[in-house]
Amino acid sequence: MKNYLTASISASAVRHNIQVLRGLIGEGVKLCPVVKDDCFGHGMDVLYPVLAELTDGFAVAAPLEALELRSKGYHGFILCFLSAYFDDFKIQDELVWQEITQTVMSKSALESIQAAARRVGKRAKVHLKVDTGMGRLGVPAQQAVDLIKTINATDEVTLTGIYTHFATADEVDRTSTFRQLELFESILAEAGNIMRHAANSAATLDLPETHFDMVRPGIAVYGCHPSDQLKSNVGLQPCMSVKAKLIAVKHIPAGSHSGYGLTHRYDRDSRVGVVPIGYGDGYFRNLSNKAVVRINGRDAPVRGRVSMDQMTVDVTDITDVKVGDEVEVISSDPTAPNCVENLARLAGTIPYEITCHLGHNMRHELV
Ligand code: PLP
Repeated sequence: MKNYLTASISASAVRHNIQVLRGLIGEGVKLCPVVKDDCFGHGMDVLYPVLAELTDGFAVAAPLEALELRSKGYHGFILCFLSAYFDDFKIQDELVWQEITQTVMSKSALESIQAAARRVGKRAKVHLKVDTGMGRLGVPAQQAVDLIKTINATDEVTLTGIYTHFATADEVDRTSTFRQLELFESILAEAGNIMRHAANSAATLDLPETHFDMVRPGIAVYGCHPSDQLKSNVGLQPCMSVKAKLIAVKHIPAGSHSGYGLTHRYDRDSRVGVVPIGYGDGYFRNLSNKAVVRINGRDAPVRGRVSMDQMTVDVTDITDVKVGDEVEVISSDPTAPNCVENLARLAGTIPYEITCHLGHNMRHELV
């Protein structure tokens, strides 16, 4: 953990995004933010109190993430996407005991949950995940009805919900999403009166017919769009900014270079600032010579290769720049060149990967 790097997370931006999403889904639909991977790198510790107050539950990937929420004192609905198959009995039992809603996607997953429920002496609650076309986790749609019947005939387990996940909801072409939706709907009649959910951020923002009883947005809660193709104009506010301080400023004569591989040559006498962040902290190496940071409100281009713990920026055109000045590595202003979405574009990746990578090695603060 680098105590000199700070991810500032704006509570008001998150509140705003939740309000936007609530406005889109209306009153009868529950909002269950996806908070896996430390809230996509934004920091569960800082975001938990904000989200717990405003939402109807939490969705996580890993069993331990679910149990961590209980240890924070959360008593509400928690859905765990991945199964506890490979965890030891202690964790499997704890999930049942702590009333975590687990995902069933196969008969063997059901059997392992049933065994835990027997050991604990408590009924387990499960949601069935149906693979309607994503080709990842989930019972194949053709076998879903049989598995529903099996779960309903299993004494120790109660089926409380059914869900699917879209593969292309963030693309302009809706053909696959509508095919997935149709398949999901064809199974629902057999599922009875249980909670139905399907929508990720893209579908929550753009496809009201997928909202059913609950939506599961992730990236939109944190203020980013799921893709460039889907630029909704609902006014999401990115909640993360990342700050560091300049640890060195020095003159570099024209003709010099900086960084491994000497990939940047300074054509004029320049001043270079050293920022103590690098790919070890999740700042992508392929942002070398592409991105900018901001110092004293001015853009400072990243020059040379990003190293593991440091990178160099050109501060020649920034007056009065000195050691200790704040460096805005990531801006929460969605129009800034160093906002998450633009850095994702420059790095050839998605905003999710930028925030997940950046979040792990620094202090988080709620502002
Ligand atoms: N539902 C499931 C099953 C997921 O795996 C995810 C994210 O990875 C989401 C919902 C949220 O997706 P998004 O962040 O695109 O809203």
